[in-house]
Amino acid sequence: MNNRETIERLRREYPHGATVELLEMNDPYREMPAGLRGVVDLIDDAGDIHVNWQNGSSLAAIPGVDRIRRVRVYPRCGEEYSAVPATSRVGLGEICPACGVREALDAAGLAGLSETILERIGDTCND
Ligand SMILES: [Zn+2]
Repeated sequence: MNNRETIERLRREYPHGATVELLEMNDPYREMPAGLRGVVDLIDDAGDIHVNWQNGSSLAAIPGVDRIRRVRVYPRCGEEYSAVPATSRVGLGEICPACGVREALDAAGLAGLSETILERIGDTCND
């Protein structure tokens, strides 16, 4: 894999700092289980995706050989994208629905009620 457009696409899909999850890596020398997470360092000119894995490995994922997926997390609380997001009132872009409720209550001067209301509506996150 060394086509320039393909590498540019990979660099957009897996930018520096993006969180990824390993789906499959065929490496007989190390313990690289599915589900392992890591943070993208860079994509080299061969298209290999260099990742700092949570087990300390920095083995590159090779497109077409190894399989990874991008894990998208919301700004503010760091939760993984799942439900339809809310739009931040304070310029953070897409945020999780519970954080959206918090920001709305904050804006209404009701921040103190946030956790009670989120508990009542059965929504919450790490924030
Ligand atoms: Zn949140």
